[in-house]
Amino acid sequence: GTMNKHAKIYVAGHRGLVGSALVRALTTKGYSRLVTRTRQELDLTEQAAVEHFFKTERPDVVIDAAARVGGIHANSAYPAEFIRDNLSMQTHLVDSAYRSGVKKFVFLGSSCIYPKHAPQPLKEDYLLTGPLEPTNEWYAVAKIAGIKLCQAYRRQYGFDAISLMPTNLYGSGDNFSLENSHVLPALIRKFHEAKWAGAKSVTVWGTGTPRREFLHVDDLAEAVVFLMENYSAEDIINVGVGEDISIRELAETIREIVGFEGDLVFDPEKPDGTPRKLLDVSKLHSLGWRARIPLRQGIEETYRWFLAHQNEFR
Ligand code: GDP
Repeated sequence: GTMNKHAKIYVAGHRGLVGSALVRALTTKGYSRLVTRTRQELDLTEQAAVEHFFKTERPDVVIDAAARVGGIHANSAYPAEFIRDNLSMQTHLVDSAYRSGVKKFVFLGSSCIYPKHAPQPLKEDYLLTGPLEPTNEWYAVAKIAGIKLCQAYRRQYGFDAISLMPTNLYGSGDNFSLENSHVLPALIRKFHEAKWAGAKSVTVWGTGTPRREFLHVDDLAEAVVFLMENYSAEDIINVGVGEDISIRELAETIREIVGFEGDLVFDPEKPDGTPRKLLDVSKLHSLGWRARIPLRQGIEETYRWFLAHQNEFR
């Protein structure tokens, strides 16, 4: 892995779960010239503003962690925002990066790009082999377009854009909204509030039988830095742990960590989403990288972060 520690690296989306972990990881690895912009300073859905930013700032490397994201409810409640904002932000970033002479572009996708009924674990080459899970197809179609954009710019212009597909992420800085977040932070908050209120039970959406894989965002950030330094090809790469658990098991683990003594109640009126999305991570392992944060330890850390920041949530 040779990359100059003085390379100017623009982290798009640096206030999000992924972007903030990337800033921490890059700083720890000694990268000294990070460039960031808040949404107020630079609206990535405005092409002219993005072009101007690249012309004046001239970063060497871009890591694109800017996306409109959310859980199973948010995806189906705001379909237009999910497809429009993700398509427009990624297109502006890739195109302006290429035109201004960026040397490396790292695009982050998602495990929801794979077909709903693909065999498990999901190998990279299952992309576009079948229909998507309807609860998040707006987001998934935008992310698939982002992968194709990177591949097309590499083929036609020789632009060094790589695409990484993280599994479900969690950790410090997560969104703990009850309605619009993903399952892990939502359940931390629900169990915590139920314990505090002395409630008898906590309602978990769906049947509890879907299985999900969870990667700590600090592990993801290390993998992204590793691949930024060591990978340069058109093929997408899965980034996960290679193990999953059921939503019921997840809920029981979080209940224990939070110390809630009441019951779990499942609400089958709420969608389950895709039955399973476990990534095949053999390619990542063969390149020499493995996740290291065990799920239980990661949830404990995330709960401590929640406790320290709970007054800041809207
Ligand atoms: P997904 O991986 O795209 O389906 O996104 P989520 O993280 O939102 O949901 C994962 C699974 O957890 C689905 O089967 C949900 O129905 C289930 N789930 C259970 N309780 C909750 C909750 O409180 N919030 C969310 N977002 N999902 C929940």
